Amino acid sequence: MDAARLAQRVNLLGPWLRRVMGGPTLKISLDPGLGCPHRPGGVGPGGCIYCPPGGSGHGRGGSVAQQLSQGLARLQSRSPRGPTPRALAYFQAYTATNAPAQVLEPMFLQVARHPAVAGIIVATRPDCLPPPTWDLLAEMARRRPLWLELGLQSAHDATLERINRGHDVANFDRAVGQAHKRGLRVVAHVILGLPGEDKGHTNATARHLARQGIWGVKLHNLMVLAGAPLAKKQRAGGLSLWSREDYATAAAAFLARLPRRMLVHRLAADPGPDRLLAPDWAADKDAVLGAIAQALEIDNLRQGDLA
Ligand code: SF4
Repeated sequence: MDAARLAQRVNLLGPWLRRVMGGPTLKISLDPGLGCPHRPGGVGPGGCIYCPPGGSGHGRGGSVAQQLSQGLARLQSRSPRGPTPRALAYFQAYTATNAPAQVLEPMFLQVARHPAVAGIIVATRPDCLPPPTWDLLAEMARRRPLWLELGLQSAHDATLERINRGHDVANFDRAVGQAHKRGLRVVAHVILGLPGEDKGHTNATARHLARQGIWGVKLHNLMVLAGAPLAKKQRAGGLSLWSREDYATAAAAFLARLPRRMLVHRLAADPGPDRLLAPDWAADKDAVLGAIAQALEIDNLRQGDLA
């Protein structure tokens, strides 16, 4: 495939959001305070080896209603003269479905009914979705555009065991099947450069996701974050991290294996300077996107085109 055709295959979230939401959008991160079923006591140390003490999100404290109204106020203050961006309510921190559906329902539906919320994102583990929760998600999706973010990280069971994910690939596939049965959109989280993996593994993960027919994908490179189990491994000298160029070429190869319709939601993470221990290059998101653009031979891959 030549470079121009490859560039045409990258279907970024930004233009989709502008088209479907009718204008600029911004996410409001919501922490439902439910912790993670894969960590002792929900928030204790352990879990996936790359996961820092605060989980994978940026919890803000307070009730979901308070977090939402504070987030909406921030959106308004960011554009005092222009139109306020559309709000995407993002249930992000830890595992957003880690409670019975009757506990989730009032919290989720108040957000789905809020007139200022244009869309909803729910991030969770594929093994934390009992049938009543699926029904609740389907109910929310009838009210607002919604997508479900599911952690997969790798389509190789040996890797999932190595990184202590606590579920296997079949579990993810079953969750995707359940989502599709209800017409729900799924976005898979994938990490490139996991211990024991090379580009052959990451290409195979891309092919697996393509076969699953999922809606979108979020990528980032393996990072060592303060307090994560991986930090200990790195201190002991037992970890080899990819260079930026390795990541960029692997990401480009990954994208080339996805069908054109699959939306790319993220290609580089925002680890935050106080949390990132390694690799140093991951702190410069623009440079990471530039390296991927170069690998794809695209000039205009911008952060604004991603989520
Ligand atoms: S990455 Fe997600 S599933 Fe894994 S320990 Fe952290 S919060 Fe739990």
